[in-house]
Amino acid sequence: MQIESNFSLQKLNSFGFLSYAEYFVSVEDEHALSTAIEFALEKKIPWQVLGSGSNVVLQEFLPGLTIHMAILGKKLVSESATHFYIDCGAGESWHDFVQWTLESGYPGLENLALIPGTTGAAPIQNIGAYGAEVAGMIDSVEVLDTKSLQSTEANFAGDLSTQQNWQVIPKSECQFAYRDSIFKRELPAYVVTQVRFAIPKKWQANLSYAELANFFLHNKSPTPLEIFEAVIAIRSRKLPHPKVLGNAGSFFHNPVVDLATHQQLKEQFAGLVSYPAPDHFGEKQFKLAAGWLIDQCGLKGYRAGDCGVYEKQALVLVNYGNATGSEVLQLANHIKHCVLEKFGVSLHQEPINLPNGKV
Ligand SMILES: Cc1cc2nc3c(=O)[nH]c(=O)nc-3n(C[C@H](O)[C@H](O)[C@H](O)COP(=O)(O)OP(=O)(O)OC[C@H]3O[C@@H](n4cnc5c(N)ncnc54)[C@H](O)[C@@H]3O)c2cc1C
Repeated sequence: MQIESNFSLQKLNSFGFLSYAEYFVSVEDEHALSTAIEFALEKKIPWQVLGSGSNVVLQEFLPGLTIHMAILGKKLVSESATHFYIDCGAGESWHDFVQWTLESGYPGLENLALIPGTTGAAPIQNIGAYGAEVAGMIDSVEVLDTKSLQSTEANFAGDLSTQQNWQVIPKSECQFAYRDSIFKRELPAYVVTQVRFAIPKKWQANLSYAELANFFLHNKSPTPLEIFEAVIAIRSRKLPHPKVLGNAGSFFHNPVVDLATHQQLKEQFAGLVSYPAPDHFGEKQFKLAAGWLIDQCGLKGYRAGDCGVYEKQALVLVNYGNATGSEVLQLANHIKHCVLEKFGVSLHQEPINLPNGKV
């Protein structure tokens, strides 16, 4: 295991922020992961996990040890009458994994094509797009549970690999919700090492998302590969590629409001863009399009120094060159303030702030 110091993370975050890790290590198996955490515990320094950095706002300096997840491997482990069970290492590229499942004859993940990031990070915020969420295909998540270590951290002098911290968490206990899970709520308690997928053998096209349905107006029975390619084409049109313009995808969640608030907003703002959301304890709820709210504040294309609001999609904040994590957070606060003043609605940030692991 090679621990480097003062390591540049500029190529390991999709915003392209200049950021340095005090210590850095890339882990390729469970043993390396436990050795890395033992190193941090023994040195009494903080540690954090980084996948491919496509959902984080990195500050200029990350104290302690940054652990880059690079555990690879994917295979069909078993099958039942109804499902294929597939294991995928946390460090595998999500998009490559989706493509591999299609090529191997296990379709079902095609709506989630081209989402940047690692497979281990997919359950953290329950990635979703084009009418699908990854939770729908997850069977269980293998983790290193570090909760018990956090209390014993002060006196740690043990061998992590022999402790009972490795767990398989079944989907029923993952508390998956819209861009949320137990892993996100309790960051950084669980380090995901592998995800087991349960892919139904009976494939059905998911064209519930209007834009995707429109794409297939003249093809009533698209194949999984056609849907995969359509999602790639639509996404490539809409979002800036991080290699061209640094960004972390949607910077804010679409806020969810109750029926009364929704009615009041509709009366006040005739063009309000909203969708029905799942009921909350029997109460009707609506999801508001955060990009529309930001746009209505006149902020689409707004620029503050080297960071700004993407001119084609107000939900995406971008780095035009030398912006820092702190500058993007300042811009985000300005946007939140404007939206709250105009609509009385609070926006919540999607990417996670490192080092503190919160939003
Ligand atoms: C252009 C663009 C488009 C995007 N589109 C979408 C979209 O359509 N839908 C969507 O849901 N998201 C989208 N995202 C967000 C992002 O792709 C996902 O959140 C992705 O899962 C992040 O993966 P990552 O490996 O880059 O995680 P990172 O950004 O490296 O990490 C994110 C958080 O997870 C933690 N983490 C990472 N790996 C692990 C692990 N193995 N164990 C424990 N904690 C871990 C990190 O500490 C951090 O807190 C988009 C991002 C970009 C840049």
